[in-house]
Amino acid sequence: MNQLAFEAAAVSDRERTDERAVRTAVAGPVCNSTLSLDQVACTAWDVAVIGAGPAGALAARQLALRGLRTLLIDRSTFPREKVCGGCISGLGRRLLESVGLDQLLEPSCAAPLERFELAAGGRRISFELPTGAAISRFHFDAQLVQHAVIAGAAFVAGTTTLVRALTDRSRFRTMLLQQEDQSVRARARLVMAADGLGRTSLKRHRAFASRIAPASRIGLGATFPADATNVEFGCVSMSVGRSGYVGMVSVPGSGLNLAAAVDPNLLRQTGPAEAVRTILAEAGVTPPSGLETAEWRGTGLLTRQTPRTSARRLLVLGDAAGYVEPFTGEGMTWGMLSAVLAAPLVEDWLIRDAARSESCIADRNEFERLAREWSLLHRTHIAPRQRDCRILSSFLRRPLAVRGAMALMAVAPNVVKPLIGHFWNSGKGVEVITETGSVAQSRLR
Ligand SMILES: Cc1cc2nc3c(=O)[nH]c(=O)nc-3n(C[C@H](O)[C@H](O)[C@H](O)COP(=O)(O)OP(=O)(O)OC[C@H]3O[C@@H](n4cnc5c(N)ncnc54)[C@H](O)[C@@H]3O)c2cc1C
Repeated sequence: MNQLAFEAAAVSDRERTDERAVRTAVAGPVCNSTLSLDQVACTAWDVAVIGAGPAGALAARQLALRGLRTLLIDRSTFPREKVCGGCISGLGRRLLESVGLDQLLEPSCAAPLERFELAAGGRRISFELPTGAAISRFHFDAQLVQHAVIAGAAFVAGTTTLVRALTDRSRFRTMLLQQEDQSVRARARLVMAADGLGRTSLKRHRAFASRIAPASRIGLGATFPADATNVEFGCVSMSVGRSGYVGMVSVPGSGLNLAAAVDPNLLRQTGPAEAVRTILAEAGVTPPSGLETAEWRGTGLLTRQTPRTSARRLLVLGDAAGYVEPFTGEGMTWGMLSAVLAAPLVEDWLIRDAARSESCIADRNEFERLAREWSLLHRTHIAPRQRDCRILSSFLRRPLAVRGAMALMAVAPNVVKPLIGHFWNSGKGVEVITETGSVAQSRLR
């Protein structure tokens, strides 16, 4: 994380406690640890999932539902805030339905999204959206953790985790779990790193060092009272400027959520409020009131790739496996999709792992098979979606092209329909969810 983003995150850490107390009192679910660190250390886990964002919490739930001894660990306590536009696409919605969690998108928790308003170069165009939803990460992530616990996963909050190296003969990955006043070692037959963009649990493993794209942007976020702008309920407003873009959407129980991807140079020169104001002004959009007094949260540089998505007894998923810019609002969906895809593969591998002899070569070969399957699923279902988002994001960095596209869409709005269908409704998503689980399973037999 660069210095500025780090400062933004640090400020929010200090202030988050008060904010959390107020918002929890309103409606947020609290997710207490279900075990002490000593109890965690005494257990031989089938799977330990590091990071309880959408990718990790859903992976833990799906694995626990399969009867696996599953541990979910997060360095934060929940509920917690997260820089995010909070939009869930058509694919994300169907994905949640397919795993029986559609109640997370009921109107009491989520705003149905029906319209997308794009502003750039002083022009504004509005499109209908196939049904999606806007959620508050404060509530949504905590609810996913609760569902993981209901499914049978153990959860430990406020615990920073480091993945340790694996010795050749070991049938367990060990991790170092650190709370403020205590640290223990824990072991699992498989560790899943779902610890987000920073992938801090793997910081001692050079093979996983991120490649950050040149001119990568930084994420910024803040919430405002619902009446701070005239963005209508059910509409995502996206404003594009030369140095980034700003998304705004209203969410039940949370007010107006603002999330932006901003050029780090602009951020360094002006600070977050002014950077957001500059982008909105270029797009011709009135900023929300209270921009100067908002509590800003920041991320690291956004566009990054990891050279690999596995090592022996270790899989990486969600943002930790690579991320691009958030313009199309699909990051949570990609993370949840990877969780749903991983669960049957992992279960299958664990069954074989338990049945196998002590041979070290057999151990390696079996894991390589899992790693290949995982990499294939990632390359087939996540990477192409990220590539398309990357192409769109690089187009948005060309002001003349954006002006031309806005002018074209003003006279022929239908030209954009296939694109919205592709990114937002994610056309082939349903088949992806229902088929790939079974395809992946049958390939293993
Ligand atoms: C500006 C912006 C707007 C966005 N808008 C959208 C949008 O509208 N829709 C959408 O779908 N996506 C959006 N995204 C992307 C989305 O936020 C991410 O893709 C999503 O959160 C990824 O989920 P995850 O579970 O992989 O990681 P995260 O949600 O980042 O969760 C990782 C978890 O790991 C924990 N952790 C980290 N390190 C450790 C450690 N060492 N030990 C233990 N725990 C650890 C963290 O506390 C965190 O809870 C946006 C992103 C940005 C920056």
